[in-house]
Amino acid sequence: MLRCISRRHFLWALAAASVLGCARQFQPLDLAPTSTPTTPRRALKPLSDSPQVQGPTSLIPIVDFHTHLQKRITAEDLVRRMDEVLVTRMVLMPLYYGDTPRATNDGEGSDEQALAYARRYPERFIPFVGMQRPELVDYGIWHRPTSFARRLVRETDTKLRTGEFFGMGEFMLRFYPYTNKFGIVAPSDMDYPADSYLMRRFADLSARYKVPMVVHAEAEPPVTDAMIRLLEAHPDAILVWAHNCGRSSAQSIAAMLARFPNLHADLGGMVYSGSGVEHYGVYFPRRTPWMHLVVDEYGRLLPEMKNVFETYPDRFFTGTDIAHARVYERYVQHLPRWRFIFQQLSTDTARKIAYGNADRLFSLGGGGP
Ligand SMILES: [Zn+2]
Repeated sequence: MLRCISRRHFLWALAAASVLGCARQFQPLDLAPTSTPTTPRRALKPLSDSPQVQGPTSLIPIVDFHTHLQKRITAEDLVRRMDEVLVTRMVLMPLYYGDTPRATNDGEGSDEQALAYARRYPERFIPFVGMQRPELVDYGIWHRPTSFARRLVRETDTKLRTGEFFGMGEFMLRFYPYTNKFGIVAPSDMDYPADSYLMRRFADLSARYKVPMVVHAEAEPPVTDAMIRLLEAHPDAILVWAHNCGRSSAQSIAAMLARFPNLHADLGGMVYSGSGVEHYGVYFPRRTPWMHLVVDEYGRLLPEMKNVFETYPDRFFTGTDIAHARVYERYVQHLPRWRFIFQQLSTDTARKIAYGNADRLFSLGGGGP
């Protein structure tokens, strides 16, 4: 398997090298001119104005910044579960992947579904343009402007221009395959560089519309190097490097946050730990020498990460990372761990990570340049 991937990458690297050799001949993808009128992004009521924020940490509002939308979960079902655990808002990142003979995803979500939910519950759902699409599970597409790539960039531009979408994601770049106890089978070992041609076009859109782009990339050294090149080339793009910067070390995260003011991290799944847990808060689905955790087995913050949260309280988001329809059945059981994290932080930092940073990010920009 490894040999097969290496060979595929080698062939693509050859192809990419020849393409990059004539990179100047690339036509820009078909974006609308910056002078095209845009609809200002719809406004959300700041949660800092809600009476709930005056209460104890155990009751403060939460914006769930990292979830995935599937076809088989209704808006009402989601709202009911959110109400049960005082989650005020939820980002919906559509999971387009369907089931195949190899994969069980419980997916088939869509941008249109996310938009419909947000129109019904405008203060509860935050729709993103979904990037978990089967067409993007392909090394070559990140490097050359295929017709699908062109269409996706153009359609994303159009959707952001309407003022109804608040971000893009999740971009799956370095992803480890897994099979979990719920029968989910995610078989693709993905390894696409963050500074590819296509990622750079999405970074352009992020800067243009002031919307976050959520990126999943386990921080192996070459992955981090490519992410840094992307950040250097696009300082105005708003990068949310999921799962605590791909489970980077506290030291590395602090250094990157100091260097790149628009870099953020979500903590998607990072606070779940203990026996039987299959999530990013433990060494799941594999352990690498570059993988670092946020909590110990009891859910207590590791001192070095707590220090980073207190030093950079404006850069982190809460995220349950519920990724599949059948796992939403257990949504409410994930929230006590988050409340326990907030109790361990200073009040100001807890509020920012729970809802304040999301408030600020979603009020940026007006749907266009
Ligand atoms: Zn992820």
